[in-house]
Amino acid sequence: MIQPPDSASQAVRPSAQDTTGLVMEARSLKKIYGSGEKSLAVLSDANLSLRQGEMVAIVAPSGAGKSTLLHLLAALDTPTSGTVYFANKAIETNDDDAALAEFRNRAVGFLWQRHQLLPDFTAAENVAMPLLLRGEDFTRALGMARKWLAEVGLENRADHRAGELSGGEQQRVAIARALVTGPSVLLADEPTGDLDEQNAWAVFELLERLHRTHGLTSLIATHNLALAARCDRILGLEHGVLKTRGALASASEAPGGEAS
Ligand code: ADP
Repeated sequence: MIQPPDSASQAVRPSAQDTTGLVMEARSLKKIYGSGEKSLAVLSDANLSLRQGEMVAIVAPSGAGKSTLLHLLAALDTPTSGTVYFANKAIETNDDDAALAEFRNRAVGFLWQRHQLLPDFTAAENVAMPLLLRGEDFTRALGMARKWLAEVGLENRADHRAGELSGGEQQRVAIARALVTGPSVLLADEPTGDLDEQNAWAVFELLERLHRTHGLTSLIATHNLALAARCDRILGLEHGVLKTRGALASASEAPGGEAS
């Protein structure tokens, strides 16, 4: 569950830090898969602060732990230790209660590399799905889905089955589905990784526009350095630790230094 700020079980936040505008934070995140000799430490001490309106890229080789980190931030998985904060409240993933379901459904939009659409459902039905899961009226949910499909330029495809759409169109439907619930944070895991160069740029430009027009805070894992360079700052993930990298890093963070 998401703990209230004064909860006795809430992990203590670093007191010296300026929390103005902080939307999401990760503190000392550790993730070890398995146990004993076969255990694999993927995140050792990952720290991250996302401020309102930032668009941040994570660039790291395959296997570095980008998906693991994004899953922890989205409360889709539980860290071995450490804490994720959303709006200054610690997220506890131990029990799957209503507050956690609400966090997953409303606070964060998640975009996978492979769109994860249901191929036999229409584009509109796919986009409406998160709204239906939270109990919205069917007609209203479909209406909102159509509005979002128009936002991503696919109003004419609303009644086509997802399986009939091109890769670029499917990813745009997935973007509409990630944002239809009105999240404040968008987490995207290699969102252009399956697309050719032209579609990758088109999808990234769409993400940039939606990020701006909807006041989102976005964290995007990508292999594509040209796309990453368009973000406000770039983080690397090395040996389980997030590092600031790239010329666009904010002045408060030394290049190559540990991210905060
Ligand atoms: P990336 O997204 O940077 O490619 P991942 O977070 O997917 O990296 O994976 C990091 C490492 O963790 C990889 O070696 C991967 O095989 C391993 N891994 C990921 N998920 C699991 C899991 N559920 N169980 C065991 N190992 C996993």
